[in-house]
Amino acid sequence: MKVAAVKVTDYNYAEVERGLKEALELLGGMERFVNGGDRVLIKPNMLEALPPEKAVTTNPELVRAVIREVRKAGAVPLVGDSPGTTGTLKAAEKCGILAVCREEGAELVLFDKTVEMSYPEGEMIKKFTVASCLNEVDKVISLAKMKTHTFMGITGATKNLFGCIVGMEKAQFHLRMQARQEFAGMIIDLASLLRPVLSIVDGVVGMEGNGPRNGIPVKAGVMLAGESCLAVDIVMAEMMGFSSERIPLTALALERQLTLPFSEIELVGDARDIRLKFLEPRSLKSLEERVPRWLAKFGRSHLTAQPEIAVNCIGCGRCVAHCPPKAMRISNSRATINYNVCIRCYCCQELCPANAVSLREGRLLKLVRRFL
Ligand code: SF4
Ligand code: SF4
Repeated sequence: MKVAAVKVTDYNYAEVERGLKEALELLGGMERFVNGGDRVLIKPNMLEALPPEKAVTTNPELVRAVIREVRKAGAVPLVGDSPGTTGTLKAAEKCGILAVCREEGAELVLFDKTVEMSYPEGEMIKKFTVASCLNEVDKVISLAKMKTHTFMGITGATKNLFGCIVGMEKAQFHLRMQARQEFAGMIIDLASLLRPVLSIVDGVVGMEGNGPRNGIPVKAGVMLAGESCLAVDIVMAEMMGFSSERIPLTALALERQLTLPFSEIELVGDARDIRLKFLEPRSLKSLEERVPRWLAKFGRSHLTAQPEIAVNCIGCGRCVAHCPPKAMRISNSRATINYNVCIRCYCCQELCPANAVSLREGRLLKLVRRFL
């Protein structure tokens, strides 16, 4: 369980390449992870069609550097993701990854076909429908972005793999696994199925607050890499200033002994002592995980923050189209929420292009927290 953490000051290609090479050398080189002739899927975070400076997507210069390292190891790099709203091509074009693929001669896989993959060992899910390319590659590299996440607390190397579920299929998982612990269990099953050989996190500029789309870009100046996506995420959470024991995904991984605690992970590189203070997403203050599971199930609406539509809603309808339980509609050119149906998944907050969904804590949530 070794994780490399190296300082990278900016996205100038020479600097990114230096940082990546340094991180890989600390781990034994790219050849430790891919073999000559392997077809390697590089899975960046391409959540949405937004420019790199928004810090929503993995920076294209890091994608370029990884493509080159994979090729240098004699393997064939492919790049692919399924964004939250738009198609892969549009997202890749806007975030600069399409241009990099073209310049480097790497195939951009559109993730428009699916295949069923069985995972009998899964704790939550025993069969996933994923992008068919996952069946056609030899290795996967998770190339994530260091960001907060309204629903899951953080999104790093492990949650990044959720983009291998194609398009609107993702919403089904929110419906089936409404508690954050259940959702985290599903993500861990997916990661165990896809088994990325290497995980890299772009934390040169990360995102704090209400990520993964509507948070604030923050310069962290770090790149992380490791063999275990869970260990990389534990280090990432702690570097962001969060306790990995409080983040649903890493907490569950620790509970199941799938990874070592932060204190026992071998942390190497010149950025190993970096500790930052990222703003928490409001939802992390939820008490869902701190009460018995049966109570959390019945009291979720009181124990979690409530999404609310602000006056700057432009009535685009994107949230309505993606709300898993269909709890939203447009009325008088503004989105409205039926709270009897809302499952607190925060997809509306995540995808709103106008940042018009805020989270409000109810009085009960504030009161109960005082006694815990
Ligand atoms: S809340 Fe956001 S996503 Fe929903 S209709 Fe308004 S602007 Fe669009
Ligand atoms: S209203 Fe928002 S938080 Fe509630 S279920 Fe719909 S997308 Fe999820």
